[in-house]
Amino acid sequence: MKQRLGQNFLIDKKVAEREVDYANITNDDIVLEIGPGHGILTKLLAEKAQKVIALEIDENLISNLRDSIPNNVELINCDAIKFDFRALPKFNKIVSNLPFQISSPITFKLFDHEFKLAVLIYQKEFANRMIASPGSKDYSRLSVSVYYKAKCELLETIPKTCFKPQPKVDSGIIRLTPRKHLPFSVIDEKFFFDLIKNLFNHRRKKIKNILNELYSIPLEDVPFLNNRVENLTPEQMGELSNILYDLVSN
Ligand code: SAM
Repeated sequence: MKQRLGQNFLIDKKVAEREVDYANITNDDIVLEIGPGHGILTKLLAEKAQKVIALEIDENLISNLRDSIPNNVELINCDAIKFDFRALPKFNKIVSNLPFQISSPITFKLFDHEFKLAVLIYQKEFANRMIASPGSKDYSRLSVSVYYKAKCELLETIPKTCFKPQPKVDSGIIRLTPRKHLPFSVIDEKFFFDLIKNLFNHRRKKIKNILNELYSIPLEDVPFLNNRVENLTPEQMGELSNILYDLVSN
């Protein structure tokens, strides 16, 4: 077992079966799986999908998997963070028990691609941050970014006893459904994502104090100056971003 690769393997087949059900896999689907491990989920996916593309970084696991997986699984030995997903056959769903070390970069990488839905297991704390609402203790840059890109549901909590070796914390199954229409429009996405990063570096501070440090522009026409970051909704952050973008680029 390689701790640094997040190798906590699922040992409860019923959890894997429920993941496949949540993703409503049919034989039209081409499913991407990141980190097949010993293949508990891979085999169930392959029974229902047209094809499964499984990306596994650990060569030792790859050689065992090759002997046990069905023909409709394309197994690729690679680092899913570095691998260019545009080189893959076009997938429409993603189902994975993600290695917790790459939860954040892999989630944002997935959003660069078109897909219909993703069913993913994350550590519970991470899952809580993904679904958090304004004003709650878990509300974060991740909550706003995910909300902007997708509908995000926490479907169930998975006890740590369902994995071997047992991790320190419980996990959660998340379903992401990318939005066909964004919940609000931003003039410049990079500007928006940079702004929310800066804002959440000081989540308890008032907006005016953060903006005064970031920009040397007059702020009188800027809204929400007396609000604290942790209470601002994603929509309000979008509005703030657009007003600041106009002020900064004029
Ligand atoms: N799907 C299996 C299961 O449910 O038991 C394994 C899940 S385990 C939490 C994470 C898997 O991701 C491991 O097999 C690990 O080797 C693999 N992994 C870790 N980092 C990776 C990366 N950067 N790219 C691809 N696979 C990775």
